[in-house]
Amino acid sequence: MSTPVPTGDSKVADWLAHPVAGDVMREMLAQGGQNERSLAPVKRFSMNKLIKISGGRFPQEMLDGMIAETERRMAGGAAPAPAASPVDDAPAGSPSPAPVEAPEWVEKITEGRFTGKTVVVTGAGSGIGRATASRVAREGGRVIALDISEGRLAEFAAEHDGLDITVVTADVTKAEDIDRVLDAAGDRIDALANIAGIMDNMSGIAAVTDEIWSRVFAVNVEGVMRLSRAVITRMLEAGQGSIVNVASEAGLRGSAAGVAYTASKHAVVGLTKSTAFIYGPSGIRVNAVAPGPVITNIEARFDDELAQERIMAAMTVLPTPVTPDQLAASICFLLSDDGVNLNGVIMPSDGGWSAV
Ligand code: NAD
Repeated sequence: MSTPVPTGDSKVADWLAHPVAGDVMREMLAQGGQNERSLAPVKRFSMNKLIKISGGRFPQEMLDGMIAETERRMAGGAAPAPAASPVDDAPAGSPSPAPVEAPEWVEKITEGRFTGKTVVVTGAGSGIGRATASRVAREGGRVIALDISEGRLAEFAAEHDGLDITVVTADVTKAEDIDRVLDAAGDRIDALANIAGIMDNMSGIAAVTDEIWSRVFAVNVEGVMRLSRAVITRMLEAGQGSIVNVASEAGLRGSAAGVAYTASKHAVVGLTKSTAFIYGPSGIRVNAVAPGPVITNIEARFDDELAQERIMAAMTVLPTPVTPDQLAASICFLLSDDGVNLNGVIMPSDGGWSAV
């Protein structure tokens, strides 16, 4: 009996291990100048999930084509090749047992957790911000979804038709845009998730340009400061509020990015702690999540050879990248009343990277 053709529900690892589909997939990767090693971080994901998180780089049509080609070869009696080795096989003779496959994480909505709350989410057009805005809305919140990209926001709103979402195209670095966000929110803002952010070009101090430094600080630090300053006035009037800032592993160590991004995320940590300390007794909780690697649209490039060499050496302990909804789970926990006794916490959400 021949092995059934894998489907969209099959894991990437199962596709690669299939005697015919594995070859089809490897050929597809080779056409794009890649090999199966590039799929190691996502090998436990289903192909459907890969399509969802790929941002159009792996479209449904490509999967359909792979399934059709596998069926064609199997119908033509393609001799099943020996099963392909798993993506990160242990070396021959290794005494270590094969790791047990963990089941794929499945989001569990907490019904009504944000009901009656107005929540402002920045960077809501993509990645972690989008996943957070989505979860808050699906848990009953009224979301003011803010992003610099009008197109991404329109797509987000269309995908969440029927939920209480107001989109505001706004640049967090512009005072007039922040005024428009406050107008859209109205008198009461219960929570704020400062998620919009940009990477640097992985330069060390000898190579960083004024332009990169200023832009990274404008978005990652001044944007967070300006919006928090505007929103906290309303929270103080209400005597309660929750703010979650998104820092980074680069806010905890010096080896995860260039100097501009690293310094900006350390500044986010300081901003979080200062605000938590000063306004805690006034009923405001301010915490930060420090994500490890997450599969999003954030762009990073290496422009500095020395910094690249140093950072890549440190990346050998990098954990498996996760999906934005896994970060949204951490952020929504702190943002909601579930975080009741937490203030001034910098919570790594990194699969344990910060413990290395
Ligand atoms: P992303 O690029 O997928 O999403 C960021 C969103 O922010 C985009 O939609 C973008 O249009 C928006 N944005 C950028 N500049 C803006 C501005 N000036 N005003 C308003 N919106 C703006 O990236 P992501 O990975 O989801 O990043 C979200 C946050 O997570 C960032 O603060 C980033 O530093 C942090 N982070 C990400 C990772 C990761 O591995 N992806 C790791 C650690 C920390």
